[in-house]
Amino acid sequence: MIIVQRTQQTQQIIQKFESARTRHLLKIQSTLLKSISDFMEEKGILQAMPVMLAPFTDPLNHEVSEAAIQYGSQTLRLTKSMILHKFIMLMGKGVDAVFIVSPNVRLESEDCKDSGRHLIEFSQVDIEMKGKDKRAFMDLTEELYVKMIAGLKHTCPDELAYFRRKLTTPTRPFKVYESKELLRKYGEGWEGILSKASSEPFWVLDHTREFYDREDEKRRGYYHNYDLIYPEGFGEALSGGEREYVYDEVIRKMDERKMDREPYGAYLELVRQGKIPRTSGGGFGVERLLRWVTGSSHIEEVTLFPRVPGKHIVI
Ligand code: AMP
Ligand code: MG
Repeated sequence: MIIVQRTQQTQQIIQKFESARTRHLLKIQSTLLKSISDFMEEKGILQAMPVMLAPFTDPLNHEVSEAAIQYGSQTLRLTKSMILHKFIMLMGKGVDAVFIVSPNVRLESEDCKDSGRHLIEFSQVDIEMKGKDKRAFMDLTEELYVKMIAGLKHTCPDELAYFRRKLTTPTRPFKVYESKELLRKYGEGWEGILSKASSEPFWVLDHTREFYDREDEKRRGYYHNYDLIYPEGFGEALSGGEREYVYDEVIRKMDERKMDREPYGAYLELVRQGKIPRTSGGGFGVERLLRWVTGSSHIEEVTLFPRVPGKHIVI
């Protein structure tokens, strides 16, 4: 039985990696990554390398199983996102904006298996800019998406044709909605409903999120953050926001969320000393982008080595 299974598995692996599909996917992915890298260079956004192990990582605003290793006396968390490391990198004079294409490990619940857009390991293009507000980041993202899609159509017409995908270059400015209004209008499922009904990517503002997101000083409960949503039912593309850098606010928000401050000690000390600058930023998943541009139904279909929640990993 095990031998039969192994033979089938091996056959599937050979088929996948010898297929035109994989070749076309790689070409599309390479074209997108080059577009991103060219765009960042043009904007003076410096590329940093990812880290995978640290005493702290993004707490996220939804539950995932803890992914940590014990190394000597230290507990090291696997990176869920490079959010706090991005802030730290921006302390330096002349380092005004950074981006990283980084692996993120998020042990999502098995319930996400069929969502079509969850992996437990994916790659995030994570960007942060010093002294910029949310509109500046949204403008930058819009420009990047327009360039990426126009560039892809120009460079990869045959590959897109293979996926029978007719992509429209998005028109700027993207539409902007308020999350609480959408909740009132469409209920909890607003994201899927509006994504399905839309033919262009759009923004949704003000999600109650992590301790590091900035809340309006005068309008408590209003968060200066944003999600970019893909059209045609593909759902969330990017999350980001203006960040909290005032020590008392950071502490208040951590306490509200009943967070253990201990692992964040070194970062909190930098915030306390006023070293962490005011920034805004965000990140989008490479696999979700590929899923959208190829019009694929499950993220697994566009990932060379997919790690799907609840699914056995073969290679
Ligand atoms: P977040 O800040 O948690 O919204 O993550 C940033 C972006 O990463 C999201 O907008 C998605 O594009 C992508 N992403 C987040 N979680 C996953 C996941 N489990 N699988 C694939 N992509 C993800
Ligand atoms: Mg998000």
